[in-house]
Amino acid sequence: MTQMSITGKKKVAIIANGKFQSKRVASKLFSVLRDDHAFYLTKKNPDIVISIGGDGMLLSAFHMYESILDKVRFVGVHTGHLGFYTDYRDFEVDELIETLRADKGESVSYPVLNIRTTLADGRVLTARALNEATIKSIEKTMVADVIINHVQFECFRGDGLSVSTPTGSTAYNKSLGGAILHPTIEALQLTEISSLNNRVYRTIGSSLIVPKKDKIEIIPKRLGSYTMSVDNKTFTHKNVAKVSYQIDPKKIKFVATPRHTSFWNRVREAFIGEIGHEI
Ligand code: NAD
Repeated sequence: MTQMSITGKKKVAIIANGKFQSKRVASKLFSVLRDDHAFYLTKKNPDIVISIGGDGMLLSAFHMYESILDKVRFVGVHTGHLGFYTDYRDFEVDELIETLRADKGESVSYPVLNIRTTLADGRVLTARALNEATIKSIEKTMVADVIINHVQFECFRGDGLSVSTPTGSTAYNKSLGGAILHPTIEALQLTEISSLNNRVYRTIGSSLIVPKKDKIEIIPKRLGSYTMSVDNKTFTHKNVAKVSYQIDPKKIKFVATPRHTSFWNRVREAFIGEIGHEI
């Protein structure tokens, strides 16, 4: 198809995980959107990415298209249990198609985390996270200075630290005892992973919510190997000199669908379920 003939069409990428149910949804969406003159199916520079699977698939879709966050919008279809980033269930595909046909380009956007890792040899590695980034020491207790907006805050000792986004606050951060943060609050959350606290060593012991534009820096005091995670990816780095975390200038945009329910609704559905009224 030539560039001329796709002008005015919405460019849509469909990506799915390996589950049978996800492939079935993907092939239905593919055949309907392929035959609709309003859409052009392509994995290259799409306007809309339809992720089919669960939150893990949406995280992968985010990383696949993070270089074009300015222009791309995401929509998730869930093929398992309820997901956090997924608006549609697998049996609601017809509704999704109608929403895409009626779509006027509106979006709902959420903050993303920017991570800058400086290695001892001077190399700088950058990444973005939709949920969180963690750092843990492999060999020994992690000892690291925590600096918040250029203020030396504490010397942390323990397994590691997590920095999460507001939408990531309901993921690993929640399991670590962090707070749930509404995504209109553009802030990062620093949460401890098994800190050492006794008469000799002291950490704050609570998670910290750091506002937009402030920077969190972690300076490991010991050379050695560190396990660093960015959402669903894990890396091992030797000799990490410093890791800086800030809110990224770019946000993730989701297609504003009638199914995109309020944040508190999603939190309730994921963690509380039906509310019992028995006394
Ligand atoms: P996965 O698919 O096994 O996901 C783990 C669970 O986390 C799934 O139930 C998923 O629905 C849920 N989840 C993901 N993002 C969420 C969010 N923003 N809010 C609420 N729930 C969310 O594993 P994966 O694909 O590798 O996903 C990676 C994510 O798993 C990480 O970003 C991390 O947040 C989470 N995780 C959690 C723990 C924990 O809770 N102890 C440990 C490691 C990773």
